[in-house]
Amino acid sequence: MNVKNNIEANRLTFWEELYLPEIARGLGLTLRRMFKPKMTRQYPEERWEPTGSYRGRPVLVEEDGTERCVACGLCSRVCPALAIEVQAADTELNKERFPVKFEINMLRCIYCGFCEEVCPEEAIVMSKDYELVFASQEEAIMDKPRLLTPVAVLQDRLEFLRQYR
Ligand code: SF4
Ligand code: SF4
Repeated sequence: MNVKNNIEANRLTFWEELYLPEIARGLGLTLRRMFKPKMTRQYPEERWEPTGSYRGRPVLVEEDGTERCVACGLCSRVCPALAIEVQAADTELNKERFPVKFEINMLRCIYCGFCEEVCPEEAIVMSKDYELVFASQEEAIMDKPRLLTPVAVLQDRLEFLRQYR
């Protein structure tokens, strides 16, 4: 009985069976859109500049020629995708330890931002970089030199984090 009622309810009306009103409606919509300003961006000539709230590729903050990171390993432990590998070593600099090895596997990263959230030193932040192309799996593993980004480039994101923390 229910099946029969459903069939009755889903039956098309005369006008719906003709399809012509819907085609006319579609053409009308296209016509209206034709005279509105274009929304298409001519990428890569016209690049999109994200705001500070954007979560792109995670990077290591570089300040005074060195990384802020103290190799505590919190980011690595919190990462749900197990994308971060940190190896610590002692240092003579003004901190106890530094990351002798720091890698992020960008094939695993899901851009959740947990690493950034948990870091006690504001040493790892989500950058504005969204242009990620890799020719091999090895190329997608970002080592420390590729992760280090000058603090001046990351000001937008750092200010955004301070505002909402
Ligand atoms: S953004 Fe998320 S998935 Fe990517 S490295 Fe950080 S914690 Fe891991
Ligand atoms: S980036 Fe931050 S959380 Fe990760 S090891 Fe370095 S100091 Fe610790």
